Amino acid sequence: TRSPRTADTIAAIATAPGRGGIGVVRVSGSGLARIALALTGRNPEARVAQLSKFLDGEGRPIDAGLLLFFPGPRSYTGEDVLELQGHGGPVVMRLLLARCLELGARLARPGEFTERAFLNDKLDLAQAEAVADLIDADTSAAARSALRSLDGEFSRQVHGWRDKLVDLRMLVEATLDFPEEEIDFLKAARAFERLDVLGTDLDALLAKAKQGSLLRSGLHVVLAGQPNVGKSSLLNRLSGQDRAIVTDVAGTTRDVLRETIQIEGIPLHIVDTAGLRETDDSVERIGIARTWNEISRADVVVRLVDARQGITAGDHEIDARLPGGVPVIWVFNKVDLLGTPANRVDVGDGVEVHLSAASGEGVDLLRAELLRVAGWEAHGEEVFLARDRHLEALRSARDCVAEALVQAHAGALELMAEELRLAQEAVNRITGEFGADDLLGVIFSRFCIGK
Ligand code: GDP
Ligand code: ZN
Repeated sequence: TRSPRTADTIAAIATAPGRGGIGVVRVSGSGLARIALALTGRNPEARVAQLSKFLDGEGRPIDAGLLLFFPGPRSYTGEDVLELQGHGGPVVMRLLLARCLELGARLARPGEFTERAFLNDKLDLAQAEAVADLIDADTSAAARSALRSLDGEFSRQVHGWRDKLVDLRMLVEATLDFPEEEIDFLKAARAFERLDVLGTDLDALLAKAKQGSLLRSGLHVVLAGQPNVGKSSLLNRLSGQDRAIVTDVAGTTRDVLRETIQIEGIPLHIVDTAGLRETDDSVERIGIARTWNEISRADVVVRLVDARQGITAGDHEIDARLPGGVPVIWVFNKVDLLGTPANRVDVGDGVEVHLSAASGEGVDLLRAELLRVAGWEAHGEEVFLARDRHLEALRSARDCVAEALVQAHAGALELMAEELRLAQEAVNRITGEFGADDLLGVIFSRFCIGK
């Protein structure tokens, strides 16, 4: 095991708060048969659902339900696990939990069951994170990717890559003892080509992981422009709801409105903002300040103008303040009033979409453009729901491999071997085989209680 801890017994309500048909209290630790006996008056049978009364300290029933007993190590956490499925009311659940505490358990911290599963080698770190990502998934595509990671697909690919790296590293290190022939030896073993292939494979893995991170956290899109150009109408059109108030009174949207939509499974967090203009209205000014704040954090800015006027002096003032580096999609709205068709036009290094928020014509062009700007490519079933820390590890491994190649060509084989070692450490961080201790607290504290 990774680092067997003092296995005290933990308990938590595993179902969501509130009322439900059933509620589950989960217990993990050692010697849980004893707790089960005290709770139900019977010795529990392993891995069988047993209809039981759950009793309080005086032997009076608290609830009746199903008892499940999974003796370790064949359980979620690798320890003994009990699941008490009772009636899903908050009072019943609290009483059952209190009874477990009375019998010697303590309250579990968020994610502690999964943390134990990790510490007992039931899951690696990437899989443990996938548990939380599956629970948090916003879209079905995100859920599918999380399940793939939980299943170990991401870890397998990371390990597969690492094993090839280790082979190469052993080869390089073996030659270090024979300084005369080392270069010839490596050439004969095609070491440089293999290093090249490792770099390419890693790029492919990184590309899939990047897509996964997009699926996981989505994209922040801000609709910005002068008053009355149709920002609120576009938000309503994209979300298919009348969320934002649409009027022809300029300055109606004074605060920031958010809506999450999905396009091909990617969550897009869309923000409708106050129209940007000079104003004496103090409330409107606060809204405008918030708009700039949103713009500074956007992944994409959708810059709307009224197609009848095109880009005006007011727009130039806005554009002078747009932060550099944020992709901008120009939208020329209200083409219905011009009687011109919706279309998409490349202009310099940017794109214009001509559409009508009112009729919906051309809105699909904008949807496609948003995906393109986000860098979404349909990798289909191969995407992993990666986190930033995975991307960072893959990137640093990639840098090490690139550096190893440079050192190899310079004939500095000691340094090459060292870079390969660093690359190996970087990918091992993903599955938690290296340098995980400082990470555990951070990762598991973001779980919900009872998982
Ligand atoms: P915002 O201030 O930028 O949020 O603009 P609104 O969405 O509130 O729209 C301002 C006015 O323009 C409203 O009267 C809308 O009905 C109208 N409008 C918005 N989009 C279109 C469009 O595509 N075509 C037409 N004909 N009117 C639109
Ligand atoms: Zn508005």
